[in-house]
Amino acid sequence: MKKLVLLVVLLGSLASADEAASPFAAVEVAPGIYQLGNTNEGFALNVPEDFVGGGVGLLVGDEYVVLIDDVMEPTAPALLAKVEEIAGRPVDFVINTHAHGDHVGGNVYVSNSGAIIVSHDKLRSRMEADPKLNTGPGALPVITFSDEMTFHVNGEEAHVFHVANAHTDGDAVIHFRNANVIAAGDISFRGLFPFIDLDSGGSVAGYKAAMQRLIDISDDETKFITGHGPVGTRADIETDLAMLSDAEARVKALLDKGMGEEEIVAANPLAEYNDEYSWFFITTERMTRTLIRSLTTD
Ligand SMILES: [Zn+2]
Repeated sequence: MKKLVLLVVLLGSLASADEAASPFAAVEVAPGIYQLGNTNEGFALNVPEDFVGGGVGLLVGDEYVVLIDDVMEPTAPALLAKVEEIAGRPVDFVINTHAHGDHVGGNVYVSNSGAIIVSHDKLRSRMEADPKLNTGPGALPVITFSDEMTFHVNGEEAHVFHVANAHTDGDAVIHFRNANVIAAGDISFRGLFPFIDLDSGGSVAGYKAAMQRLIDISDDETKFITGHGPVGTRADIETDLAMLSDAEARVKALLDKGMGEEEIVAANPLAEYNDEYSWFFITTERMTRTLIRSLTTD
């Protein structure tokens, strides 16, 4: 009897060790709608080891399972295991928010398990042209849209729309109108300096306009599934947009004085934001250089 008890205890601890081994945690932001990300408190990104991919959205219900982004190739199987644990069955549709490897890296896996991938037209062309993203059969979206489309699933109306030249040139935002949830993709780096991919059609002006659109279509109760960092509110998006606008103005003031790039970086005009917003991928210096480049090439 003692042995049996010991075995049960051992199996019990093995099972919980297995669960603890998943690099993904889920936060239910509204009934049946989740943000998935790393297992740190509030999806914090303190060190590179925390990074398991871009923030993921998940809609589950009676009819369909809809996934928003599917992280990186190496971490995608663990994500899909976590999704199946929550949804109880495989994914039907995946909406890709933009063509970066930490958001579309699991496309081959989800296609092979029967999911239909949907994206903006330009995301598909970017992926098709990039061997690092076009990694084999199933990698590319099979349905694309140019401006907007709507999913009518699980009693939810999910309005998918394009925001032009923001994080990239193929960004999609998903607005769950009934649940009052917005999956922002990388239009929200919550509390972090944003990556604005100037080499993939992104722009600071477009990024700010996209953030403003998030503010315009939301209210005080709206929950934001973010591309990086914790779940957000409209007030958070307003705070992050104010930071970006002010950061741009600070850099512009130095450019207007005739200062060069290295002089501006040395002057560190974003120093005030360093403690809160700088992180391992977009440091204060990298944010400064992006703003300089954007302001001098527009
Ligand atoms: Zn991205």
